[in-house]
Amino acid sequence: MRTDDIYYDKDADLSKLGGKTVAILGYGSQGHAHALNLKDSGVGVVVGLREGSPSRAKAEEHGLEVLDVAAAAKRGDIVMVLLPDERQGQIWREEIAAGIEPGNLVLFAHGFAIHFGEVEAPEGVDVGMVAPKGPGHLVRRQYEEGNGVPCLMAVHQDASGDAHAVVLAYASAIGGGRAAVIETTFKDECETDLFGEQSVLCGGLSEMVQAGFETLVEAGYDPRLAYFECLHEVKLIADLMYEKGIQGMRYSISNTAEYGDMTRGKRVIGPESRAAMKEILAEIQSGQFAKEWIDENASGGESFAKMREEAQGKEIESVGRDLRSMMPWIDQSFNE
Ligand code: NAD
Ligand code: MG
Ligand code: MG
Repeated sequence: MRTDDIYYDKDADLSKLGGKTVAILGYGSQGHAHALNLKDSGVGVVVGLREGSPSRAKAEEHGLEVLDVAAAAKRGDIVMVLLPDERQGQIWREEIAAGIEPGNLVLFAHGFAIHFGEVEAPEGVDVGMVAPKGPGHLVRRQYEEGNGVPCLMAVHQDASGDAHAVVLAYASAIGGGRAAVIETTFKDECETDLFGEQSVLCGGLSEMVQAGFETLVEAGYDPRLAYFECLHEVKLIADLMYEKGIQGMRYSISNTAEYGDMTRGKRVIGPESRAAMKEILAEIQSGQFAKEWIDENASGGESFAKMREEAQGKEIESVGRDLRSMMPWIDQSFNE
């Protein structure tokens, strides 16, 4: 494993953030975690939110000063954009850009907007990325417990000559340097992130679960058994892989399961699936996917809404709702 591009707290100089104000735009999953961790690290923070945002009261309760997006962008010496990726271009043009001055640092937690040209930062401004490899609640909880979630960092534009040090200081102040801060580029972070979510984590996994469930149900098996075998137990296997890798997972399952895994898995994910993965990666690299997603939002998001509605009506959802309600250890708040 390469280690010359990995940084820790000892490599970071938090005084680079001294006397500066960080504006956190958005107070969702990442926004609340970054704002609170920075504040606890002694950094000056303001939060930028829409007029009437339901998060406003929450941020104020947490002791943070809340401004509207344009005012926060103007106030911040460092402006971290933690808004939904598909809206960043428009909000940048309408509310953020006017407040960005030479010498400021604009930060992102994902490469999408910069890499696909939705945001074009002016000359004289530093542009960087700090992307925690975990959801916001984990970034916050780990920090509170004295740990941190590993972060990716990148510098896209270094006008000040000091961008690397300031970006690293930010990553350290949200707890990343307690684990590891790995340097990459906007391009690599963005393309690998989209590929992972499309072909493995979200797209690949949910289609595989759905197909397995439907195969059993169409063959006449009880949908409840199909749900347990094809969806519920995914967590067990995912937890084992997360903790010990693929071979560690295989060590923990039965010999029968391991033999079936190694002799059958390649038939499910065969040459056709690998070819599809290559195609999906090429669409990401060429910008075709980004254009499609930006156009979908620009035209009102109708087909996205329709796909959501169709997926909601599937049998696996109603069977799952009923079964999950019988398992009190599963958080029920989403079902209620
Ligand atoms: P989120 O949806 O949880 O939060 C978005 C925030 O933006 C909310 O506070 C919302 O109210 C606000 N918002 C929406 N529209 C707005 C508007 N027009 N004006 C002002 N505020 C508006 O998003 P998130 O998951 O925190 O993602 C933020 C960024 O972090 C994205 O770039 C994402 O790719 C990145 N990221 C997310 C994760 C994750 O696990 N959630 C991990 C790493 C990086
Ligand atoms: Mg992603
Ligand atoms: Mg089994």
